[in-house]
Amino acid sequence: MAVFPLSPTDSPALGQALAGQSEADLPLLGQSLEALTEWMVAQGQPSYRGQQLYQWLYQQGARSLQDVTVFPKAWRQTMASVDLGRSSLHHRVVASDGTVKYLLRLRDGQIIETVGIPSAKRLTVCVSSQVGCPMACDFCATGKGGFVRNLAIHEIVDQVLTVQEDFGQRVSHIVFMGMGEPLLNATHTVAAIRCLNRDVGIGQRAMTLSTVGVPGRIRALAAEQLQVTLAVSLHASNQIQRLQLIPSAGAYPLEALLDECREYVQLTGRRVTFEYILLAGLNDQPVNAAELAQHLRGFQSHVNLIPYNPIDEADYQRPSEASIRDFVAELESRRIAVTVRYSRGLEENAACGQLRASRRPA
Ligand code: SAH
Repeated sequence: MAVFPLSPTDSPALGQALAGQSEADLPLLGQSLEALTEWMVAQGQPSYRGQQLYQWLYQQGARSLQDVTVFPKAWRQTMASVDLGRSSLHHRVVASDGTVKYLLRLRDGQIIETVGIPSAKRLTVCVSSQVGCPMACDFCATGKGGFVRNLAIHEIVDQVLTVQEDFGQRVSHIVFMGMGEPLLNATHTVAAIRCLNRDVGIGQRAMTLSTVGVPGRIRALAAEQLQVTLAVSLHASNQIQRLQLIPSAGAYPLEALLDECREYVQLTGRRVTFEYILLAGLNDQPVNAAELAQHLRGFQSHVNLIPYNPIDEADYQRPSEASIRDFVAELESRRIAVTVRYSRGLEENAACGQLRASRRPA
């Protein structure tokens, strides 16, 4: 049975409970066609207006009911204060490689970061799942800033719509690799995945959820039977080293994490990506590659190496290109499938690990 069974997009009441808001404040974004239709009827409108609202919310980028010009003008005016659930743009920076970082202001004033990453055939959005993050990984700027709160469903969906509208282009891929640990906000993250798939129209196979691992949650995710790719932030080739980098590893030994990942592969038939940050002189030695390969032997998986992106709060070093190549060669010689992720948006602090809640432009 699914362990994240709430489907808030199925019912306004449930959506309201999950968003922790009163009915009058209920954001419409994140809700299904059925729920929106129910809501329109409750407002005394004919039910076909539900379909119109759905279209304007998810496809036309309505930010307020006043934007929905197919609705009667007088009614729109009386409903102008209804919260659709859209964030406002606080700041936007464009890196020289075309990556765009957005600082979005939520209704309670919190700021989150979202990144739009264009490439020849794709537009990828890197979305946040929490304001801040409680995992406190030592190499990550988000973790250094502490945890504020989980994002609601509409706050996750909004990030994708925002990037789509800004680029004037459909988003093709989504990575849950922004601020936060998605499996600590699993209910909302899973509901947002379903909404982005069903209502915004993005294929689940074009989505990747990245987690550092929360005991039991990878198994629970498997039970959701999604088609998304699971990426697991391993980052070390043994428990001692992992614990130095990732405090939460204390409650979740490497072996237990790998066992749960193996179960995930069995349950879903989908392979897992293991992310491995490369920190010069620390975990980038050939012996680490050999140890990693040993763990992953016969495992239906793929290793994605992430050369460390510098942050102010830590003094790790990014390895040289030569040692990255050596690490790759070492894994390949042991027949481990491996790729290197050269993060985009580095100089604008938009790359992996560089997102933070507190950085606000003067
Ligand atoms: N909480 C999720 C998503 C985090 S961000 C997770 O831990 O997987 C996505 C990836 O960026 C993770 O693998 C994360 O460990 C990595 N990352 C964090 N800080 C980084 C840094 N300074 N340089 C490179 N990658 C980093």
